Amino acid sequence: MAAIKKTVTFTKNAVNVFFHILTRCNLRCRHCYINPAQHGTNTLDLATIRSWLEAFVPDERPVNVIFLGGEPTLHPDLAEAIRHARHLRYASITVDTNGYLFNDFIQKITPGEVDYISFSLDGATAETNDPIRGKGSFEVCTAGIRQAVARGFAVSLIYTVSTANIDELTDMIPLLSDLGVTRFFIQVIGIRGPSVHGETDMTQVSQTNWQTIVPGVAEKVATAGITVTYPKVFLSPGELFECAGNVADNYFIFPNGRVYRCPLCEDYPIHALAFENDTLHPRPSINEADLFRLDIPEGCVMNKLVQPGNLAYSPDGSPLYQIACCLLKEEMRGTNFTAA
Ligand code: SF4
Ligand code: SF4
Repeated sequence: MAAIKKTVTFTKNAVNVFFHILTRCNLRCRHCYINPAQHGTNTLDLATIRSWLEAFVPDERPVNVIFLGGEPTLHPDLAEAIRHARHLRYASITVDTNGYLFNDFIQKITPGEVDYISFSLDGATAETNDPIRGKGSFEVCTAGIRQAVARGFAVSLIYTVSTANIDELTDMIPLLSDLGVTRFFIQVIGIRGPSVHGETDMTQVSQTNWQTIVPGVAEKVATAGITVTYPKVFLSPGELFECAGNVADNYFIFPNGRVYRCPLCEDYPIHALAFENDTLHPRPSINEADLFRLDIPEGCVMNKLVQPGNLAYSPDGSPLYQIACCLLKEEMRGTNFTAA
């Protein structure tokens, strides 16, 4: 099997809803981006979840929802929320979990009701994963994956790359096949959330390290028949920079009612929209949308503001490369056709 790579371009023809239904979590991952001071500490009740899902009800465009937390399976009504999204004809439904699968979650839904259960693991071994995500989490997460696969669910896996675990990315290749995972999402650590600030041994990897390791691993995983998605991060000369805030329809909802269009803005009260009395309203300037319009030579404005460590400049002060929108992805798929 060979692998085909494509850049997943932004589209206005679909809407993506990233729905944090609570911020509570049983783990304390070192890179956690959840910021209760900004995102709230409440757990949305089922009536509110239903109502906010209805705000994005599919019209002529497909709408995809990803249920997130905190840990979303801590919500006792997650299965009912999923059923309501299905009832509203959402095009795809995904649940992102740390693998603990609370409240007998996978006993309460069927594989026909959810498109993907997405597990987070940050190492191919407990020795690498557990110092990042918590003692015992590797064993629990891999057991949860096996349980979900055995019950017939489609399972994906998210690996957040940082300097603490990039060396173990290669070792994920046999583990993914062994676990029965069908999609692999490689993420880049974001310098956001209260836990990341002050970390010294867990930062974004360099352009050279990223480009030397990530595409090669992705190709091998795709060749094994598993679809891989990873962020573009660094644009090559001549590649077009686009801000998803201007050209795509993504909504990042938090339980305190804030709705962002850009994940890099989530540590600041600059959300473009908010739920008030269960109705979605645009917020007045200045908000994140004003930043999306700024045109700078480094590419992404928010990257320059919150994580400038991944920029590099030539002696004349011009940037050596542009940073892509954090939402721009590369996708690699296996194919039974051998490349000519
Ligand atoms: S499992 Fe997710 S929400 Fe929980 S601490 Fe880890 S990164 Fe944060
Ligand atoms: S990450 Fe940068 S380019 Fe992407 S939506 Fe946010 S501000 Fe725009």
